[in-house]
Amino acid sequence: MTNPGLVLVLNSGSSSIKYRLVDPGAGTAVLSGHVEQIGEGGPVVDHAAGLRLIHRRLIDSGVDLAAVRAVGHRVVHGGSRFFAPTLITDAVVSEVQRLAELAPLHNPANVIGIEVARKDFPDVPHVAVFDTAFFHSLPSAAATYAIDHGVATRYGIRRYGFHGTSHQYVSGETAAALGRDPAELNTIVLHLGNGASASAVRGGVAVETSMGLTPLEGLVMGTRSGDIDAGVLFHLDRAAGMGVEQLDELLNRRSGLKGLSGVNDFRELLQRRAAGGASGEAAALAYDVYIHRLRKYVGAYLAVLGRVDAIAFTAGVGEHVPDVRADALAGLDGLGIAVDPHRNRIGTGARIISTDASRTTVLVVPTNEELAIARAAWEFV
Ligand code: ADP
Repeated sequence: MTNPGLVLVLNSGSSSIKYRLVDPGAGTAVLSGHVEQIGEGGPVVDHAAGLRLIHRRLIDSGVDLAAVRAVGHRVVHGGSRFFAPTLITDAVVSEVQRLAELAPLHNPANVIGIEVARKDFPDVPHVAVFDTAFFHSLPSAAATYAIDHGVATRYGIRRYGFHGTSHQYVSGETAAALGRDPAELNTIVLHLGNGASASAVRGGVAVETSMGLTPLEGLVMGTRSGDIDAGVLFHLDRAAGMGVEQLDELLNRRSGLKGLSGVNDFRELLQRRAAGGASGEAAALAYDVYIHRLRKYVGAYLAVLGRVDAIAFTAGVGEHVPDVRADALAGLDGLGIAVDPHRNRIGTGARIISTDASRTTVLVVPTNEELAIARAAWEFV
């Protein structure tokens, strides 16, 4: 089989590395997998060991590694500096490292992944694709926090947004599914995975998103609180003596669905809710808070966009939980939004789930960040 070339896509998280070998022309994955629990006392002591393991798996798979013509790296924070796929040089690595100040959990892991992979694949372009990039276009009214301007400027405090690769890919696929020119389409994208975020996209350009300086703001997530009164932090500092590390841990790891119900996995949440009892009640409340927040964002983005042609659900929960889609948009017929109960429960792939009468078309559009990263990297080959 002749292969015009493959792209290795790497997503190095704080304790895991996901990898996928993508044929960017065909849009298919040749191979994929992940290494988890890095540095947590198991056999994979660090990211370098994780990448060595991945390299070994690639060789063992029998894939001709000479076909790897580029490596695409997901990088979480691009700050104000990076807003396009960027060919990685030593200078770019230093800058990504410097941005770790804004993303302490993510960017250092991304940098290690890049450094090791550059040694493993020294002869091909390595390309960084930033999670923040798509939101570089946010109007300043949406990107600016209403705090002391001098402090914000000095410390780079603004809303950057995350999951950008997914929001961009899904808004593009939505236009394709509708046979419409993206330049004419106003879309709300709801990326509901472990992390969750919403975006408003006007004519292919992002004009609002729910995540901010960090991926903590906005929707209720698996373990993150999303929006919260900042006063809660002052109160917990004064009343409970919680310091900054504890508060960080509370809001990022012990909140959201997990904080409310004890579980962050949506499948388990639905099972508990169905089973009833005390834990079922907690799960039901978590579900209701999740849905309520989602509805508030949909309402806000209807107002931001003025006219909404499409609402697209994506990622684990968005693609697989019909109840969430139905409940998030229930009772909005007056606003021209009506999910068809039957269509909502059938089908795979990109599909329409609204009624024919619905002025706004509601869709499920599977995300594929790895393919988007592979295509971006391929541009440099
Ligand atoms: P990540 O943000 O880690 O990439 P995903 O987009 O894979 O996450 O979404 C993970 C979430 O989606 C989990 O809460 C998981 O329970 C949920 N999920 C995935 N598949 C299903 C399913 N078939 N039914 C219900 N929930 C699902």
